[in-house]
Amino acid sequence: MNIGDLLRDSAKMRPGHAALIYEGRTYSYGELDRLTDRFATVLQVGGVQAGQVIGLLLESGPELLIAAIGAFKAGVVPNIVNAMLRPEEVRVIIADSEAVWLLTDAERERGLQSVRERLGVRRIIIVDSEIPSSDSIDLCSAHHEQRSPIDSPAVPPHPQPLSPEYRGEGSKQVACLLYTSGTTGQPKGVMLTHLNVIDNAVQFARVHFGPDDMLLVAAPLFHCWGIINGVLGIWAAGGTAVVIRRFKADPVLELIEKVRPTQFLGVPAMVNHMTRSPARAERDLRSLRVIHSAAAPMPAELISALRDDWKVGYAESYGLTEVSPVITTTPAEEMRAGSCGRAMGDTELKVVCPEGRTLGVDVVGELWARGTAVSAGYYKRPEATAEVFVADGWFRTGDIVRMDADGYVFLVDRAKDMINVGGEKVYPRDVEEVIFRHPAVADAVVVAAPDPVLGEVPRAVVALKPGAELAAEALIAFLRPVMATFKLPRTVEFVEAVPRSASGKALRRLLR
Ligand code: ATP
Repeated sequence: MNIGDLLRDSAKMRPGHAALIYEGRTYSYGELDRLTDRFATVLQVGGVQAGQVIGLLLESGPELLIAAIGAFKAGVVPNIVNAMLRPEEVRVIIADSEAVWLLTDAERERGLQSVRERLGVRRIIIVDSEIPSSDSIDLCSAHHEQRSPIDSPAVPPHPQPLSPEYRGEGSKQVACLLYTSGTTGQPKGVMLTHLNVIDNAVQFARVHFGPDDMLLVAAPLFHCWGIINGVLGIWAAGGTAVVIRRFKADPVLELIEKVRPTQFLGVPAMVNHMTRSPARAERDLRSLRVIHSAAAPMPAELISALRDDWKVGYAESYGLTEVSPVITTTPAEEMRAGSCGRAMGDTELKVVCPEGRTLGVDVVGELWARGTAVSAGYYKRPEATAEVFVADGWFRTGDIVRMDADGYVFLVDRAKDMINVGGEKVYPRDVEEVIFRHPAVADAVVVAAPDPVLGEVPRAVVALKPGAELAAEALIAFLRPVMATFKLPRTVEFVEAVPRSASGKALRRLLR
């Protein structure tokens, strides 16, 4: 069982059918199957072994898909990195995964020069470079053989493939690593197996997609919602994926009118931007039947706008990277107001109180999940794994919910310290640690502040050392070079003392 089979099977059945549309270019299933086969060969001939990791630091687009699927086919494990991260953040993730190669674009490669030595990779390969060299590949072109690493000297085998305890057998084999940060401030690589990924794509497709569907995937492809449920989901149905580099409301509205997708997959902030755009009324969006959202709460007024103004169906899904990622979804016509859907596939759900007792219908508690969606845990982090992947196959989501008598889940709150910035997750500890490095700072805590478009944004509450002076802009300027923009505090509030409990814990709820 290999994720590459999703593409291969559709390529056998309908080789000429459009699998992917990107910036006016269409890739058929047959062509994409060949391009990904070829990248698998590039890896093999270049000396990358099955079970070794390669880093992919690429924006959404065909290059990222071809590299990821090619790696799956070769049994190589892509570590798919959020392209919004800064070089130092990338360094931590790439080094932790012991990647042997890193594929990125020319601009990011230049940015990585300052951390080049500490990345730990043997090669950085520039994808789709204008200047052909032995270390550049044009993944999407039919003519790239002449300048691919096939011609360059083979790299000697790396001593550290994923160790056997992580490799598993057959479908249990680790397919990819996706890093999430978490409350400890230490990024952790979630290990998704081939079975996790195939099952999530196929189950999602069963509920939502048919072979004649064309899905516009606006969610970034370096997040599992975009690549697994979006692209692999529509491929599992034999349909067509339309992908974009980056979301911008007006060009996307224009694209919908032009290519006429039947469904759209994104996050609430995207729907918000499109709904507010004056361009929406001028565009013909009637091809769209369903809009999919996940990763952050969708405001009720936007759901009404979709129904009444857009005249389109709405389907919400919910999940986490640790569960591949979707565990609840429901067809648009069966959605219930305020709910993120019912259990998907073979997923079992239960609502649990802090003492571990299972709660009844409509009682609020933490959501636990069990089934094929539950991933293989965190790479090289047995303790962190044991905290949330608990006994009998259950995974603790850290989300506080209630579940009604029909199994519809309603998100109520979060047990974990996380700030949801329009679907991008920020862990306060990550930001606080960098603020603490500023010499003027005595104490700091980062909490969520409400935002009309993004839902939540980070807000820093900072106490300065006696006599020290620091302006908010100066603190932000200090953070900016080492932190992805979405993590930056939008406001900084200076206080005499950060409120803390007797045991020293920041009173986050109070500050919120
Ligand atoms: P991806 O990384 O592909 O965007 P994701 O956002 O589902 O996937 P994570 O980044 O791991 O995964 O974040 C998971 C958290 O996102 C959940 O614990 C929950 O708090 C929040 N979340 C996910 N789906 C929803 C939803 N439909 N409504 C509200 N919050 C959601």
